[in-house]
Amino acid sequence: MNGGGVVARRVMSTADWAPVTSVGTATDSGSAPAVGDVLVDWYATAARDLPWRRPDVDAWAVLVSEVMLQQTPVARVEPVWRDWMARWPSPADLAAATPAEVIRAWGKLGYPRRALRLREGAAAIVERHGGAVPSAVPDLEALPGIGTYTARAVACFGYGTPQPVVDTNVRRVVARLVHGQAEAGNARAADLADIAALAPSEPGRAVRFSVAAMELGALVCVAGTPRCRACPVRDRCAWRLAGCPPHAGPARRVQKFAGTDRQVRGRLLDVLRAAHHPVPAAELEAAWDDAVQRSRCLDSLLTDGLVEQTDEGLFRLPH
Ligand code: SF4
Repeated sequence: MNGGGVVARRVMSTADWAPVTSVGTATDSGSAPAVGDVLVDWYATAARDLPWRRPDVDAWAVLVSEVMLQQTPVARVEPVWRDWMARWPSPADLAAATPAEVIRAWGKLGYPRRALRLREGAAAIVERHGGAVPSAVPDLEALPGIGTYTARAVACFGYGTPQPVVDTNVRRVVARLVHGQAEAGNARAADLADIAALAPSEPGRAVRFSVAAMELGALVCVAGTPRCRACPVRDRCAWRLAGCPPHAGPARRVQKFAGTDRQVRGRLLDVLRAAHHPVPAAELEAAWDDAVQRSRCLDSLLTDGLVEQTDEGLFRLPH
């Protein structure tokens, strides 16, 4: 799997790029530095100092951060991640926790099924790998709740194995920088090869390139209006070279939260997190007025294993 990320590098032909006018430093031969090298050098000065990027963190800490960061901003993740790592510093520690404990500790990160899946993943690491997070992408992908993105991120950032790592931000960077499109559209299998083609060949720089591409998408090549004036590869960008064409596809849907089942499920879980005893249905009524929606959401929480009902008909977090 690792080879898939690094063997197909540097396939951009010079015809793909306009002459460089202001990016990076010219090489000895006078040619422009490769885009991947420019991004690695930019990352060295522009990267955010995030705790899961520190050299002393292990693959477990990286794995927990990657699961938490899915669909959740860094600012909300950071305090919860710190608490989790202090409380459950290894997969064995988390595997020994109860579902109620992990749902409580997940707090308001949203999409709380991730907490249960993380605990299941920890148990699988203990059972299959003796408590050590595996380093091979296929082994990581075989864990509960771990998809291709997270598996590659853990292999790359947790173990230093060069991997193309494609999240939403990287897909957007690829769409603009490589393909000259304003938006990424649907996920494409070719995104992995596209980003791998830009990676430097030296393994350490290839690893830093993977996180640099993510950081560019998070800080500069952002959703909506990109901050091209601050972009280190602005003079190589196919979208800018094409005259910044508008998005041709359907408008992006902005996800609403207010009034959705997600909000109602969160309210119901808030009640159960705060209670340290099983609560009657009447106590949940105060969380949301619409009885039909409330009932639907309570049913879905029961189905998802996030709530359980006692023999007396009371509700609580699962034990
Ligand atoms: S120049 Fe603008 S659109 Fe192109 S990669 Fe940089 S930030 Fe994104």
